[in-house]
Amino acid sequence: MSSATEPVSDAAKAKHHATEAGNYFVANYPPFSFWQKEQVFAVEKVLDSPAPHDIPLGVYFHIPFCRKRCHFCYFRVYTDKNAAEIRKYIHAGMEEFARYAARPYLQGRKPHFVYFGGGTPSYLSVPQLQELTNRMKDLMPWDQAEEVAFEAEPGTLNEKKLEAIREIGVTRLSLGVEHFDDHILESNGRAHRSGEIERAYRFARSLGFEHINIDLIAGMMNDTEELWRAAVAKAVEMQPDCVTIYQMEVPYNTGIYKQMQTDGKVTAPVADWETKRAWVNYAFEEFVKTGYTVTSAYTVVKNPETIKFVYRDSLWEGADLLPIGVASFGHLGGIHLQNQADIAPYIETIERGESAIFRAYATSPDERFIREFILKLKLGSVKPSYYQTKFGEDVLTRFAPQLGWMQNEGFATLGPDEIRLTRDGLLQVDRLLHEFFLPHHRSARYT
Ligand code: SF4
Repeated sequence: MSSATEPVSDAAKAKHHATEAGNYFVANYPPFSFWQKEQVFAVEKVLDSPAPHDIPLGVYFHIPFCRKRCHFCYFRVYTDKNAAEIRKYIHAGMEEFARYAARPYLQGRKPHFVYFGGGTPSYLSVPQLQELTNRMKDLMPWDQAEEVAFEAEPGTLNEKKLEAIREIGVTRLSLGVEHFDDHILESNGRAHRSGEIERAYRFARSLGFEHINIDLIAGMMNDTEELWRAAVAKAVEMQPDCVTIYQMEVPYNTGIYKQMQTDGKVTAPVADWETKRAWVNYAFEEFVKTGYTVTSAYTVVKNPETIKFVYRDSLWEGADLLPIGVASFGHLGGIHLQNQADIAPYIETIERGESAIFRAYATSPDERFIREFILKLKLGSVKPSYYQTKFGEDVLTRFAPQLGWMQNEGFATLGPDEIRLTRDGLLQVDRLLHEFFLPHHRSARYT
């Protein structure tokens, strides 16, 4: 081990007080800004190669529609599409999926996991959902899927829709709650209110979903210590199987950032980073008191033995992910890929019989190793032996300066069998991860 005490960059040393515009969350590696149109051919090459027998396959279907655009939202979403336009989009997605299913690399493979994300998948009507999922199952049966995850906005759920979601085989229902205070929900642009959360949750529970998750966000506009504590108390009372808690960030393409520009402000009108970390820590502690376990920088789980995150874990370990729909991200045979980012060009390219992929990145073995190391650090603990076996890399030597610095700062404890983040390290893991990027990826814009 090195005795290095300095971080590699000034960014890691910064105390990160006020929330300024930009991406904080590290979702993938190498950064998206390095993905290029010129590398799309590499995906086509993979798709023409024989199907592998040892790589799990997942399918991600993006539903880009929402009732309202939240002020903090940075996803590609549309709030003005009518039923005919939605149907056209779904048909384009099904056509894209059918073309993939016929390629050699995917032939005969069945998904290990399926994920409906958005946007708001629960915005679809029951007939739309049934048509979509029946077709998907015809093309690639889900009978071996360990997880079928579905994101839902509480205000779009009635009993009929929840029953349909259950019937199509969803095992993990993820409710985008974010907060329980109606003024906070309203002032942050959320479409739902607390009464709708109650109703949707109660009925979903009665339907016997294997796994119900609720999402919360710490540090939304107008949140206070008192309101946050009340929200946590409410979430604890509901006893979901799992809770995901994000710290509010303000990327450049959000309504909040646009307002900051208009007002000439640098600091976002949301809680500072220390406050957000303290709030997430408070929530973790409250859940732990009732028997939950902290299983990552963002999650507490009621029963870690039975509640698995198949999508997340498979993806982080290098599974293939087939991305369907506008702006969807995927990973096939070591190549990252993303689809057309706007709905019109997405549908047009599919209708012309062309691929909707608009940028890609062929990862090197070293980049795949770094990716898996940094993403798994978000779980709070990694084993050096795992990386030695899978990649032939001694992480304690390779990352000696970064890890030594993290240990000195009280963010991690290091041992030959385990690298473990302290709670303080876990709560700010995303800003620490940049230190492990290859040098030429460190200073670049992430998205
Ligand atoms: S519901 Fe989710 S995807 Fe839709 S606008 Fe709000 S944050 Fe964005």
